Amino acid sequence: MQVVTGKSVLNGIAVGKIKVYKAPKFEISEKTVDDAQVEMELGRFEAARLAAIDQQNELHDRAVESAGEESAEIFSVHAMLLDDEDLVDAVNEIISEEKHTAEYAVKTAFDNQAKVFAEMEDAYFRARSADIIDIENAVLGVLLGMDLGSKQGGEPAILVADDLAPSETVRLDKSLLLGMITKEGSLNSHTAILARSMNLPALVQCQEISDDWDGHEVIIDGYNACAYIDPNDDLRKNLLARKIEDDKQRALLQELKGRTNTTIDGTKINVYANIGGPSDIEAVKLNDAGGVGLFRSEFVYLNSSTAPTEEQQFAAYKEAVEALAPKLVIIRTCDIGADKQVDYMNLDREENPALGYRAIRICLTRRDFFKTQLRALLRAAAYGNLAIMFPMIISAAELNECRKILDICRNDLISEGKKVGDVQVGIMVETPAAVFCADELAENCDFFSIGTNDLTQYICAIDRQNAKLEPFADTHHPAVLRAIRMTVEAGHRHGIWVGICGELGADLSLTESFLRMGIDELSVNPTSVLPLRKKIRSIDLSKPQEQ
Ligand code: PEP
Ligand code: MG
Repeated sequence: MQVVTGKSVLNGIAVGKIKVYKAPKFEISEKTVDDAQVEMELGRFEAARLAAIDQQNELHDRAVESAGEESAEIFSVHAMLLDDEDLVDAVNEIISEEKHTAEYAVKTAFDNQAKVFAEMEDAYFRARSADIIDIENAVLGVLLGMDLGSKQGGEPAILVADDLAPSETVRLDKSLLLGMITKEGSLNSHTAILARSMNLPALVQCQEISDDWDGHEVIIDGYNACAYIDPNDDLRKNLLARKIEDDKQRALLQELKGRTNTTIDGTKINVYANIGGPSDIEAVKLNDAGGVGLFRSEFVYLNSSTAPTEEQQFAAYKEAVEALAPKLVIIRTCDIGADKQVDYMNLDREENPALGYRAIRICLTRRDFFKTQLRALLRAAAYGNLAIMFPMIISAAELNECRKILDICRNDLISEGKKVGDVQVGIMVETPAAVFCADELAENCDFFSIGTNDLTQYICAIDRQNAKLEPFADTHHPAVLRAIRMTVEAGHRHGIWVGICGELGADLSLTESFLRMGIDELSVNPTSVLPLRKKIRSIDLSKPQEQ
């Protein structure tokens, strides 16, 4: 048995035989043509370009059926790129001025464009480089009369490939596709997005892939971002049991999509999703969450080797709010420190990191760092429905200070002529101090979101990172439940809404208690949205709670 690792596109298990998939290879020489042939080459390129546009439109329609409108959009973008004047001019120029064949001109001009994208700082644009190569292959396929159709073989299989372009992914016969493992590809790539929306467990950035795997059995364990080649019997048995559980959950998901989160007696609450970045947007949609209750923005920082710039952050936040508009997206400001460390912040080692220099404490002392994020958030707010949430707040003075800095950023942006949007401003209630000061805090914000993970650790004085303390940890500790109730009551006294975004929000054994406390929103892992909806729909608040 061989174990390999990568980045997991979807939490799920896939079992099957491996089919090693090879991308089409085009042999293109640097041949020139004589003057008389130039017109013909220009005509060949134009015909191939139009045929490739038709193909992209066809792929779009096919993807709408298999993966939904959002995921299919990439093929409309491809069709638009094939109409891009600069790109078309560049090819025509190489044919008419350098007297090259249509094939050579396409390869040169498209490769150049792909390189420009590949060198861009913005991860989104970098990922578009693969799209240019994809449409280049489409045009070359037409010019060379090559069938780019399926090379996946006739049996259900897990595909292993260096990379899969979106068009290759969508051309694959879904009934024969069990999962994918690729050497390249980012979690943000459209192939990953397509895999996610097709519910296919997949690993990207798996360096160890090998042609020798062809025909061998593999299990992809998306939960642990690894794959087992030729797994042993025990492992197969365990992972298959997990897969059966997953399949049951999936059936449940389908049944509840599009329904409201309403109890039998008619009480409605919001069920939102917790995400780590734009790559989770598909999961939010797929699980029919009403919005995002916690976007942990520090993952944008953790995924970077230097502090992300205003533009990089703006791109990430804008992508999320725009994709989910008009749904609310609550973005928590950077909660770095404690267990989330990045080298470029140069944070000192501390005796008690959980009680240390973290989150808002860093932001309030490194103002320029904080302002960069607030500016990006205010700009992104112009593209959808965005709320800003401050973590680890312990006093009204801290919240006031955050709001002052936010106002300064807004005024600066306006005087620079930049577009900004309106935002709701809220805080995480995750410290005992915030619970006890909830009345003062509620006077100066639009909502509370209770962070039960930290709140439990601070109320019970139990380090959430220390596995040795698990026997002492009681997630249903009465003190924590009382703190939640106090927070809801204080929030409601001041007319603001109160939610929970810590893990406890997904604990179905507490849902009824939370609803009876008057909680307005629960924000949970995307895969917990529909099970939670099912639970809410089974509760009748007009009857006494069963003990
Ligand atoms: C929490 O503390 O409950 C929370 C949601 O934040 P995190 O888990 O990111 O600290
Ligand atoms: Mg927290």
